[in-house]
Amino acid sequence: MTDFAARVEQVSISGIRKVFEAAGEDAINLGLGQPDFPTPAHARRGAIEAIESGRADAYTSNKGTPQLREAIAAKYDRDYGLEIDPDDVIATAGGSEALHITLQAHVDPGEEVIFPDPGFVSYDALTRIADGTPKPVGLREDLTLDPATVEEAITDETAAFVINSPANPTGAVQSEADMREFARIADEHDVLCISDEVYEHIVFNGEHHSPLQFAETDNVVALSACSKTYSMTGWRLGWVVASNRRIERMLRVHQYGQACASAPAQYAAEAALTGPQEQVEEMVETFEQRRDLVLDGLTDAGLEVPTPEGAFYAMPKVPEGWCEEVLDRGVVVVPGDAFGEHGAGYARLSYATGTEELKEALEIIDDATRAVR
Ligand code: PLP
Repeated sequence: MTDFAARVEQVSISGIRKVFEAAGEDAINLGLGQPDFPTPAHARRGAIEAIESGRADAYTSNKGTPQLREAIAAKYDRDYGLEIDPDDVIATAGGSEALHITLQAHVDPGEEVIFPDPGFVSYDALTRIADGTPKPVGLREDLTLDPATVEEAITDETAAFVINSPANPTGAVQSEADMREFARIADEHDVLCISDEVYEHIVFNGEHHSPLQFAETDNVVALSACSKTYSMTGWRLGWVVASNRRIERMLRVHQYGQACASAPAQYAAEAALTGPQEQVEEMVETFEQRRDLVLDGLTDAGLEVPTPEGAFYAMPKVPEGWCEEVLDRGVVVVPGDAFGEHGAGYARLSYATGTEELKEALEIIDDATRAVR
């Protein structure tokens, strides 16, 4: 019988899409999860040159080209002082595939995966697709994840916990002390820490720390991507970094499911990682200015909102009926419960939108908030 597998029957299409579909054509979209900047010209050129010379015509090594993996390893040295063997890297189809192969390689049927709630929608869905049991845990008042909450949630059935800093949907950044704790928990409880670092470069104060820097065992898998840092969401290029034995298991999933990441995208990523980084700095500065604008606007409207320290999202607490009212007036925001049960009573606003549009949206939000109070 052509029945469907239980693992896909339990997963539904993301609630975020539904919000976009409900919005009018002229709506100001604060729902987007991608930077509103172009991909750096030198990254595009990397792909164009590879295509024109024919270098991008064929499969690459399953793990990705040696040059790209060297560029990724060099990045970890540059950013974190970590010595990564290029052989312990797999280039993937975005951070999404990185997450998928990590879970597929480490989660047995029924095993639990702990992740932040509200959190990125794929943690729950990809856990289910790996036949695992999702175990969402709530956040602190400031919307960071308390390592103690993770530690308390660990049972004999726990395969892994996912952390995400800077975070989608909250914009929260975990402190270095928290990252040290997550590494200790992974070491002491012998569970895998999956560190989703796709927003690692979009931090406004201080810098991002990775548990990879602090773990004493190989119980940390770090994943990242060009998607957010280089405004390359459409290119679909990410990676995982882990110990050789873990990479070898993840490669089995990647090799049969994907063969290799898209070759043109790999050449673009290599150029992005090895080329000038000024455009990233400029983007982060712009995001910080917009963050301040959004924070002021929301606070003036009387909403309570923890200060987002990274990514390009703000997550205010909102009254009942607020999201509908804002949407009716032509501003798209995503209701917090699209990111998990604990997200109810919040909304996610993305400020990957031009400053003028943001100002207009904030005025509408001000009126809408007064109307629902
Ligand atoms: N992780 C987080 C926290 C995200 O927000 C996203 C995309 O929105 C991803 C992973 C997936 O990134 P990619 O587009 O590289 O697959």
